Amino acid sequence: MNLPKYSIGVGDRFGLEGAAQLRALQRAASEGVRVVPVWNKSNREHSIIGTRPEDTRRAAEAAVKACGWTDPYYLDADHIGLATVDEYVVPCDFFTIDVADFIGKPVDGPAAQAFVGSMEKFLGSLSIPRMRSPVRVSGELLTAVAQKYLAAISEAGKVYRRIAERKGSGNFVTEISLDEADRPQSPAELFFILAAVAREKIPVQTIAPKFTGEFLKGIDYVGDPGRFNGEFRDDLAVIAHAVAAFGLPSSLKLSVHSGSDKFTLYPLIRQAVEDFDAGLHVKTAGTTWLEEMIGLAESDGDALQLAKDIYADAFTRYEELCRPYVPVIRIDRTRLPAPREVGAWDARQFVETLRHDPSCPRYNIHFRQFVHVSFRVAAEMDGRWTHMLQACRAVIEQNVTMNIYDRHVKPLFAGLR
Ligand SMILES: [Zn+2]
Repeated sequence: MNLPKYSIGVGDRFGLEGAAQLRALQRAASEGVRVVPVWNKSNREHSIIGTRPEDTRRAAEAAVKACGWTDPYYLDADHIGLATVDEYVVPCDFFTIDVADFIGKPVDGPAAQAFVGSMEKFLGSLSIPRMRSPVRVSGELLTAVAQKYLAAISEAGKVYRRIAERKGSGNFVTEISLDEADRPQSPAELFFILAAVAREKIPVQTIAPKFTGEFLKGIDYVGDPGRFNGEFRDDLAVIAHAVAAFGLPSSLKLSVHSGSDKFTLYPLIRQAVEDFDAGLHVKTAGTTWLEEMIGLAESDGDALQLAKDIYADAFTRYEELCRPYVPVIRIDRTRLPAPREVGAWDARQFVETLRHDPSCPRYNIHFRQFVHVSFRVAAEMDGRWTHMLQACRAVIEQNVTMNIYDRHVKPLFAGLR
């Protein structure tokens, strides 16, 4: 099962927006660029909302049918490990194996020695075509990579084989994610990590390193875009070289996690992907839920009131709601408006404060990040929430499609072949 060159991870927390998401990709197709959807939902999201992977499968199939989507589509068991993979094996066909927790775990001596020994042919100055400068490969670098990443890649091998035993190898797409690590991986580290992946015989098709800078939920990139650009291009050079050097799948590409809303980076990413003729996977994750909130607010009346009630309840549960997302949010609590203040807003003020339009003076990144992690409150409302989602269908779907197409697909993929 080969993942096409361009793909987008679309999250749909409540399983109602699949058709609106597909319409964005159908529009891209009609304009000449093929981007396939991967519906990703992490174990963390399923447990917060109280859904199961089969629910995501059902929602995806219904959307595909409703839209007459004929290209491939995938269901991603997002950020799973040995402890959580089992219930995803049947409904999913894309597995994001998260091994960040195993980075730096002890590795046994002979395994580390065997790895370093097998990489000795790269010692000295390693020139990778189109990389900005050659990599100086020393015994210390190889040992450091072994000590830091070998246990993690060996764990990925265990998870991969567990899935392959049950699904049959070749019947699913494998991603390895390192993005929730403490420190970014350098392009040189990525090269030798891929060597270790190949030695584990994992047919990895997408890899999500931790890039330099911060990739926070729902807001723009925080960091030095020039530095990101240099490293991202080096990563593309490394991937092309690793495919040839280690016999990895030719479909191997980078996966950008928490990739939604990184508007500053999109022109750089798009140019790099074009220059290197590389593939790309971008996970947009949970921002569809924010479009649902925006759609409710825009609908005014009872729907706006519901959006305000969700915020007011969430406000009193700040620590609880933020806790699962601490590494990927950066909220200044003093910049969150008090629920009483929000209660007095009209529809337009709510929408403008929440919507990611950097040119709008009302846009508040703290409010947006906080609403992003508040979906548990909506999930607990059951009937009132789902009823309103249905009642405001047209406005919400318009927002969902526009967000995926105009803000993400167009700047990232338009004009690529
Ligand atoms: Zn991730």
